[in-house]
Amino acid sequence: MHLPFDNTYDALPDRFHSRQPPVPVARPDLVAVNDALAAKLGLDAEALRTPEGVAMLAGNTVPEGAAPLAQAYAGHQFGGWVPQLGDGRAILLGEVLTDTGRYDIQLKGAGRTPFSRGGDGRAWLGPVLREYVVSEAMAALGIPTTRALAAVTTGEDVLREAPLPGAVLTRVARSHIRVGTFQYFAARRDTEALELLTQHVIDRHYPGAGDAWGLLDAVIGAQADLVARWMGVGFIHGVMNTDNMAVSGETIDYGPCAFMDDYDAMRVFSSIDRGGRYAYARQPDVAAWNLAQFASALLPVLGDEETAIPRATEMIHGFGARFQDAWLDVFRAKLGLATAEEDDPDLIEGLLDRMAAARADFTLTFRGLVDGSARERFGDPAAFDQWAQAWEARLAREGTDATTARDRMRRANPAIIPRNHRIEQVIAAAVTGDYAPFHAINAALASPFDDHPAFAAPPLEGEVVTATFCGT
Ligand code: AMP
Ligand code: MG
Ligand code: MG
Repeated sequence: MHLPFDNTYDALPDRFHSRQPPVPVARPDLVAVNDALAAKLGLDAEALRTPEGVAMLAGNTVPEGAAPLAQAYAGHQFGGWVPQLGDGRAILLGEVLTDTGRYDIQLKGAGRTPFSRGGDGRAWLGPVLREYVVSEAMAALGIPTTRALAAVTTGEDVLREAPLPGAVLTRVARSHIRVGTFQYFAARRDTEALELLTQHVIDRHYPGAGDAWGLLDAVIGAQADLVARWMGVGFIHGVMNTDNMAVSGETIDYGPCAFMDDYDAMRVFSSIDRGGRYAYARQPDVAAWNLAQFASALLPVLGDEETAIPRATEMIHGFGARFQDAWLDVFRAKLGLATAEEDDPDLIEGLLDRMAAARADFTLTFRGLVDGSARERFGDPAAFDQWAQAWEARLAREGTDATTARDRMRRANPAIIPRNHRIEQVIAAAVTGDYAPFHAINAALASPFDDHPAFAAPPLEGEVVTATFCGT
């Protein structure tokens, strides 16, 4: 099995990582190889399907050129500082250099590491399939994200509430470097490591950034854009701890995440998020809070504190306006608009408020603007009609005709999203050995802007999922 490894994180000093091979499993069995992603990476999908390939995906063999390691990081979890987290169950095999760039290849669920604390280093099939489905759906929606290259089962049970089938996900990312990676070294007053990490991230993700100030600016911009895109598809990350914020601007960690069905700005799914810290509408504020932690961690490399602190503070305060701009871009497109007017925020909020009052389905309401069926989502259609008049007038003012608006909206409003109840069905079937629902939903979600009637419907009353679990 040949992969074009070119490992640069491995070349950083020893305190950045702990060298650690994956821990072999009993009976690896292939669940899926992602052909489209393999092609994008220039990897041979058929070779990954051979026994030799599957052994590698399970962590039973280490491919030539890999330099397996667990990354060190820290983080704020629900606002509480944890000085050491690190990869407790993920092993970075290395980076592959492809025509489309440099990518980490990581095995998640590959056994214990020095960062495992009390954990078993494993993952069970449910969260592995959830991450596979949702991260690939995000990619197809055009939202920056880590990807899923493959999933295998291990032939071993992992003990959670009950014994459950173990699995390993092959995760692909531009990098797995987090805000928490910077915090790890800042907390240790290791300025040399911060300088190396800063340069590594600039070289890898933001070659135009120049210096640490440019990096801070770029990461703020990437997060403003990312969170705005999440909001545009009703996505709730669920566990926006600083160790789960990638400096690349990719969505990472699909633990208790969920897409909303009916719209509620304060929706929370995560069973451990009791205070609603990571509710849908709080995500931009949380991102700003996390970025403030990032700026704090960067301080030692931002120069003289007297001038650096006020300047960094001002940049963090600028997040709100940058997010608002990105959010307006996203929602204007969802309404078929191509220009900006001052009252656009009111127009957008006007629809969202009415959706909240009507408990209208987020995805179907926006998609329904394309064909007029949005109106059916409102128990009191008059509320919608009144809003639609203002919207139509707004489209007319910018000179957008109905056909043009429809074309724009069809590209901005997905017909399908990975709904929670469908993911639960996928997992329940997979546990009995039936992977057909898993493959079917992946196939549909690969083109979420096309109509897929079989996957469009919101949950029936008995199917509604109200909580997701941290899914370890
Ligand atoms: P997360 O909540 O997924 O962001 O994970 C937080 C921390 O817990 C990270 O350091 C993970 O590596 C670690 N962790 C999560 N699940 C396990 C597990 N089953 N075994 C060991 N470490 C784990
Ligand atoms: Mg995590
Ligand atoms: Mg997680």
